[in-house]
Amino acid sequence: LTPQEMAALFRKPAFDEVELSENVRWRVREVFGRDMTAGEVVARIVDDVRREGDDALLRYTRAIDGAELSPATLAVSEAEFAAAAGMVENAAVAAIRRAIANVRRFHAEQLPKSWFTEREQGAILGQKCIPLDRVGIYVPGGTAAYPSSVIMNAVPAVVAGVKEIIMTVPPARDGRINPYVLVAAREAGVTHVFKAGGAQAVAALAFGTATVPKVDKIVGPGNLFVTLAKKAVYGHCDIDMLAGPSEILIIADSTADPRYVAADLLSQAEHDPLASSILITDSEELARQVTAEIEVQLAALPRREIAVAALERTGLIVIARDLREAVELANMSAPEHLEIITADPFSLLPYVRHAGAVFLGPYSPEPLGDYLAGPNHVLPTGGTARFYSVLNVETFMKKTSIIAYTKAALAAVSDDIIRLATVEGLEAHANAVRLRKE
Ligand code: NAD
Repeated sequence: LTPQEMAALFRKPAFDEVELSENVRWRVREVFGRDMTAGEVVARIVDDVRREGDDALLRYTRAIDGAELSPATLAVSEAEFAAAAGMVENAAVAAIRRAIANVRRFHAEQLPKSWFTEREQGAILGQKCIPLDRVGIYVPGGTAAYPSSVIMNAVPAVVAGVKEIIMTVPPARDGRINPYVLVAAREAGVTHVFKAGGAQAVAALAFGTATVPKVDKIVGPGNLFVTLAKKAVYGHCDIDMLAGPSEILIIADSTADPRYVAADLLSQAEHDPLASSILITDSEELARQVTAEIEVQLAALPRREIAVAALERTGLIVIARDLREAVELANMSAPEHLEIITADPFSLLPYVRHAGAVFLGPYSPEPLGDYLAGPNHVLPTGGTARFYSVLNVETFMKKTSIIAYTKAALAAVSDDIIRLATVEGLEAHANAVRLRKE
């Protein structure tokens, strides 16, 4: 194939091209009384929450999530946290604590340092790294509960030094939140949890309501409604990235165990019919073995239908001329998760330019990174690894520069400043320097 044809193969639908499933379309008709695109739904919800605050937030929580809440019950109470703590298994809490410890240890290494540097004639320059005051973390919860997402979003914020972490998570129809999610929130250092999901939760965080505090930045994964809402509120606050369905791309050679490769491809395919699983190999033999192994493992998978839908839609096995070409193709795809299962995976690492996270060798399967290794699992998808980074400590910080010149240091550069200010026609700028020179 030509490079253009390869690029077309790897192309993922943009957010505004994603088709809603029949189920979701039906739900939209029920809530809004007519057919609407996801973009129209989000624009309407965001606008309503911005204007009406809690009233709209509670109305949409009732209409879409089926939970009847009030301003008094929107926030998770101390009694609810205590009840959740009584409902969870000790072994799972221990695993949550170990995951938090690993994620904290990894992210502590990312903490940027403020610095000063000296220049000529006693001038001092510097950069101060400052945590954001208040951030919102969106934890998805429509079809499953994700305590791991609580950890991955909250711990880097805590490490960064953010004082207030406001979490939202969609409630079940009875208004409750999964107890493991609540225990993870407490253990990870979340300040407040609100029972809200979808675009309405994102809008509440961005604009604030009488009950939900307005935040400086919203982070976290979610479905199409969440992602489009983050895009809509960007500018009113910051956001981390726009993320879509999960992806894995595996580069493997003839030394790879086809059972591992097949299992890892299926681990992403079972997420979502829109998920993407790609194998690139220099071995036709491995390609054949993996194809056969996928059939075997699929037969035993409870989420078989979802995995088949994903594989039929975007599943791909590419035979590359060699492993260097395999990495070039992987760079074109810019996958969320890149596994390299070859005889010498580290030798290919220097050529990797676009990937959310890289997993090297046969004993670094993607779920290791999802839960416990320490690096973050909130990753760019849909080819956006070309320009977005994995969620990290700096996601929760901003930088301020510092300038402290002496009289002599300023005098030494005054002429240049005055000349440049004059070129720009900014006489007051020139004056501010001229005065100090005299
Ligand atoms: P979600 O919390 O993202 O979305 C649920 C919310 O969507 C609901 O509260 C509802 O308000 C809104 N919604 C649903 N249908 C709607 C409709 N018809 N109209 C308006 N609003 C509607 O949970 P989800 O749906 O389960 O999606 C979670 C996503 O997050 C999945 O794609 C999953 O793969 C992804 N995820 C990613 C990571 C990661 O780190 N990359 C981790 C966990 C989950």
